[in-house]
Formats: sequence, C-alpha cells, structure tokens
Amino acid sequence: MYTITLIRGDGIGPEISEATLKVIEATGLDIKWEEVTAGEGAIEEYGTPLPEHVLESLRKNGIGLKGPLTTPIGSGFRSINVALRMELDLYANLRPSKTFPGVISRYEDIDLVVVRENTEDLYSGVEHMVGKDAAESIKIITRSASERIARFAFEYAVNNDRRKVTAVHKANILKLSDGLFLDVAGEVAKEYPQIEFEDRIVDNMAMQLVQKPQLYDVMVMPNLYGDILSDLCAGLVGGLGLVPGANIGARAALFEPVHGSAPKYTGQNRVNPTAMIMAAVLMLDYLGEKEAARRVENALAAVIKEGKMVTVDLGGTAKTFEMAEALAERVRG
Ligand code: NAD
Repeated sequence: MYTITLIRGDGIGPEISEATLKVIEATGLDIKWEEVTAGEGAIEEYGTPLPEHVLESLRKNGIGLKGPLTTPIGSGFRSINVALRMELDLYANLRPSKTFPGVISRYEDIDLVVVRENTEDLYSGVEHMVGKDAAESIKIITRSASERIARFAFEYAVNNDRRKVTAVHKANILKLSDGLFLDVAGEVAKEYPQIEFEDRIVDNMAMQLVQKPQLYDVMVMPNLYGDILSDLCAGLVGGLGLVPGANIGARAALFEPVHGSAPKYTGQNRVNPTAMIMAAVLMLDYLGEKEAARRVENALAAVIKEGKMVTVDLGGTAKTFEMAEALAERVRG
C-alpha cells in the first residue's frame, strides 16, 4: 500500500483532482490518500497558504499529488508552488510534452522534455527596492545546483532511451551566471558519451521550438527559461490542459499539472483533466508501477483519439467528470 499526500488545490483544482482520483482508483492500486489543504483554502483555516503540516505530510510520505494553487497577486504571499519546491528541495522539474494523436495542433509527433532547475535563478526571492524608483531581483546560479540538474537530465536521458540533451542558456549576455550553468552542463555531459550534447541560446531556442521542434529531445535549463519554454512546449501539443509536471528531489517528489488554477473556469466542470491525470502517470512511473501507468496512459490516448468523450478545449462536449468516467472504464478494461 502507498500513502500519498493529496493537495486538491484552488480554482479548478478540486474538479481535476476528483477526476484524477477516479481514474487512478480504476487501476486497483492500493493507495491511501493523505489529504491536506494548501493555497487559498488554507489561508482561511490556518492563516497561511502553506501550513507546516502540509510540508510535514510531504516529508513523511515522500510523495504527493497536487492540483494547481492560486498565487494571490499583490498580497504578502510569494508563490506557494515555489515555496513548496524550495522547502522540500525538489530541485528537478520534469515537464514532458508529447503529442496525443487526435489532438488538433499545427504539429505532429512532438516528444519534448523540459528539465527545469527548480530552486534558484530569479526565483530565489532575493528582491529589493533601491530607493523608491528602482527594484533589483538577483539571479543566483550555483555550481552545485547546476551540476545536479544537469546530471538529472542526463540520467533521465539514459533511463528513458533518449538520444540528446540540449542545454538552454543566455551565456552570451549573462556571462557569469548562465556561463557557469553552461560550463557545468558541458562538464557533466562528458560523463555521458552515449548521449549527444549541444547548447542553444534561449531566444533562438524559442524560435527553433516553433519552427523545428522535432530536432529536440531533452532540454535542461535554469528556472525562468524552463518556466517559459515548458508553456511553449505545451502549446505545441495542444495546450496547457494536456501537460504534466514532476518536482523531484532527493527525499520527496510532488506531481502536478503544468497549468494553474484557471479561476475563470472554477466549478464549471468543463476543463480538461488530462494534465493532472498525466501527472499521476508520472507519479506511478516514479513508484515503479509501470503497468498501471501504461494502462492509464493508453486509456487517455484511446479516449482522446476517439474524440467523443473529450472536453471543450479538445473540440468535444464532455464535462470533466464524463471524460474521467470514460477513462476509468477503459482502465478497468
Ligand atoms: P492558468 O494555467 O491557470 O490558465 C491559463 C489558461 O490556460 C486558462 O485560462 C485556460 O484557457 C487554459 N487552461 C489551464 N488549465 C486548463 C485545463 N485543465 N483545461 C483546459 N484549459 C486549461 O494560468 P493563469 O491564469 O496565468 O494562472 C491562474 C493562477 O494559477 C495564478 O494564481 C497562478 O499563480 C497560478 N498558477 C499555479 C500553478 C501551479 O499550481 N503549479 C502554475 C501556474 C499558475
């Protein structure tokens, strides 16, 4: 039996969480969900969006599944998502974007993986005003964090039969910070001669991903570029409703959709549950439950290809829960 921390999340989070639980239940795996509240819901009850017992639950279980959390703009709270990743040292953010046949997109056969460094760069929160009319945000890049994320990317490539790792940077301008990241990635690459290594400047990478995405495979990059380019990759495969993310550290891992809480769709039962279900697939793979993971993934591929029980963003008319029910039926077989 697995004990897994569950954070349903804000906005559309509860709807897609319910849908995901239904599909995972259909695998028959023995999972005890330890449910905790974070985000907007927790502010009312605990006075903070990230109560200590949420972190304790994740530390104890070492594994969690979460829906999106709203970051209130202009309030005193920084992003809870960023705080969770920092507190638990979930240093690797893995964001695969793969075409589901049947999804209407300008692109076919996309299979890209963004490996985003998750703990430093401009997300370190070192930010201050300089007088009243200027502000500084400090970009932090360290050798140790760059080395472990580069190694994560190469290990992922080796273990998942990938052929190439591309380091993405802006070392032509940020000669010290991104220069260090690139140097370290190059050093780590020498330990993996079986995997091709190359680098791209981030602006060029954005264009290349739009024009020739099939040339790329695994991409490793600092935090901010990973945040932006992973949404770009989501766009290539049909949108944010489809792509999952995993936040992985040495002692814990937290799985979530790449998208946010989409507040304008809250309670309408119309958003696509695929991203969170795919996050659960990544989680099952992480647990070594490969057979269950493939059953869920194959059910998604079949239901999406058929196109009958899919949500509005995929051109269908199904409600979130109807799509989940169709998936659960397939998983049960
Ligand atoms: P968002 O990802 O919530 O939504 C952007 C748009 O993407 C939506 O309007 C919708 O058109 C589409 N979309 C998102 N999820 C979808 C789904 N499941 N099915 C179909 N379409 C979907 O981004 P936002 O509006 O910029 O952010 C809203 C809130 O979410 C903010 O508070 C932000 O901080 C937070 N956020 C949280 C996370 C996270 O929890 N990891 C990630 C990103 C944003």
